Amino acid sequence: MARYGIVVDVEKCTGCHSCFLACKDEYIGNDYYPTSAAQPNEGHKWIQLKEVEHGTGTKIKVDYIPVMCQHCVNPHCITSNNADAVYRRSDGIVIIDPKKAIGRKDIVNACPYGAIFWNEEKSIPQKCTLCVHMLDNGEKTVRCAECCPTGALVFGDLDDADSEISKLLVAKADKVKSFKSELGTRPSTKYIGIPKPFIAGEVILSDRQCDCVKGAKVTLKANGEDKVIEVQTDFFGDFEFKGLARNTDYTIKAEYEGYYPIELTVRTHASQNVGELVLKAK
Ligand code: SF4
Ligand code: SF4
Repeated sequence: MARYGIVVDVEKCTGCHSCFLACKDEYIGNDYYPTSAAQPNEGHKWIQLKEVEHGTGTKIKVDYIPVMCQHCVNPHCITSNNADAVYRRSDGIVIIDPKKAIGRKDIVNACPYGAIFWNEEKSIPQKCTLCVHMLDNGEKTVRCAECCPTGALVFGDLDDADSEISKLLVAKADKVKSFKSELGTRPSTKYIGIPKPFIAGEVILSDRQCDCVKGAKVTLKANGEDKVIEVQTDFFGDFEFKGLARNTDYTIKAEYEGYYPIELTVRTHASQNVGELVLKAK
């Protein structure tokens, strides 16, 4: 038996919303009993794009994180009070029965991911079904993954070592994360490349007409560690260190021949724009 899941490669997501629209196209106005009733025209986001903005000033980045039902191995949406209406199939897909869950608004709040939406007209809680009606019909993928133009969503069988999804999880093992894993829900949806903080800035020479300097050496070292990362400023005098640990003190040093270096310490409670580092001539 397969065990289905999705891997979201956040680094590949451009926030185009094709997945969101594909979900709407599949479910609005379409009943797929016994696993789902039609999605209403408005108000539901069975797959939603969370925008994560980080940095300040001119060094701002936006990442998009698609969030949907995580089809948890230990789903908090299934409780002793609703086990008749919500169930987990042997292939790992968690289903809210659209008939047995009528009137059960309490189920909406049982999901810690905010993945369940209330259908006022039908009086039922609803969410992503991992396009189970398609899979049960022999399809090999789900609508959101099928329509993603960048390959940011990969659907497949987590128990098949030869599937694309399993190979991807092995290849990127050091970057794989589960969303809110501390809750013990054990999601079947996995994330690659959840954004980490960056430190960026620019180097300027105090005595030059030009605002910026290309080729200045900038180093970064986590306090208490020996490893030093070195970059050169680009044409605009900009530098950037990506993928840093959160809540860590880093020492940054900017150097350019004939000028006094500048050193400063920055804490990554979030991405940081250290602004202009102005080097004075010797
Ligand atoms: S994400 Fe929420 S709705 Fe989906 S299985 Fe987990 S707890 Fe249930
Ligand atoms: S379709 Fe793919 S690239 Fe576009 S928003 Fe969805 S996951 Fe991101």
